[in-house]
Amino acid sequence: MKVTNIPTSEDFDRESHSAFNLAFDTFTRFISDHSYVIEWAGDETPETLEHIESSKYLIRNIINLLFLSVEFQLKSILCATSPFLLLDGPKSWPKPKSGTVSFGSLRSISASDLQRAIELFGNKELSEGAWKHFEKLRAFRNESSHSISGAEYSLESIFIHILRVSEYFLGSKNPFPIRIKFLDSADGIYVYPDHLRNQALAEFELLRKIFGSEFFKAEIGVPDKRLNYCGVCHWEGKDWDEQPKTAEFNGEQTYCYACGETDSVYEAHCALCEGVQAFSTKSDLCLNCGYKA
Ligand SMILES: [Zn+2]
Ligand SMILES: [Zn+2]
Repeated sequence: MKVTNIPTSEDFDRESHSAFNLAFDTFTRFISDHSYVIEWAGDETPETLEHIESSKYLIRNIINLLFLSVEFQLKSILCATSPFLLLDGPKSWPKPKSGTVSFGSLRSISASDLQRAIELFGNKELSEGAWKHFEKLRAFRNESSHSISGAEYSLESIFIHILRVSEYFLGSKNPFPIRIKFLDSADGIYVYPDHLRNQALAEFELLRKIFGSEFFKAEIGVPDKRLNYCGVCHWEGKDWDEQPKTAEFNGEQTYCYACGETDSVYEAHCALCEGVQAFSTKSDLCLNCGYKA
């Protein structure tokens, strides 16, 4: 029998990133709304707690998407060895009638068997922490239709789920460079692709403001100090003085925690700050005030 539409490891990897980004998108959108509620009603007031309470279905969706992202990543690993490792046993195979069958119509192994299959046949090893987190997400997903305690719905715990999936399964403790890469590659589906970089920078700033720079230091590795402008992922189509500061300057070069790029600098006189300042080699942006030379 001939099997058609056989998926590749890259197919699953792309789907995994897509599900992760949809989870990220949903989360930051909710946090953005939530920051308005805090602004208007204050932190930890009945209004803000009610806003979190009423968002439970959104949070369940975020967890489901994160689980999906991990599941696709695990399938991508197995697929790199052979896509046929994803198929359930012979009992579920179809009777040979037509001579061809689409891969998607065959039953795949259950999520709970993925760990064993990868440990036996995968060409990549995952850490104990990764498998523990996979189990956590699986349990959360399976129980999410029943009642779940309020603690598991805290905004911080949801953000930590996002960070762990990024670290354990997508290979980056810092999720923002993954986010920017995805937005860059998704130009075609957005109406205003020019502003995608702005969106990623604004998300970085918003989440750092809401969760705090100490949390960002401990969980993502972003230093707890004043950051500089990034000359690589600089603001598009807007006033430069609104651009979030996302880069660390070590005296020689900058490293941006939003886009993950390094940039060398040169010194020149800045017309706005006055005096000699460091400028981005890539975009001639003054790292101190954002003025473009
Ligand atoms: Zn950047
Ligand atoms: Zn300047």
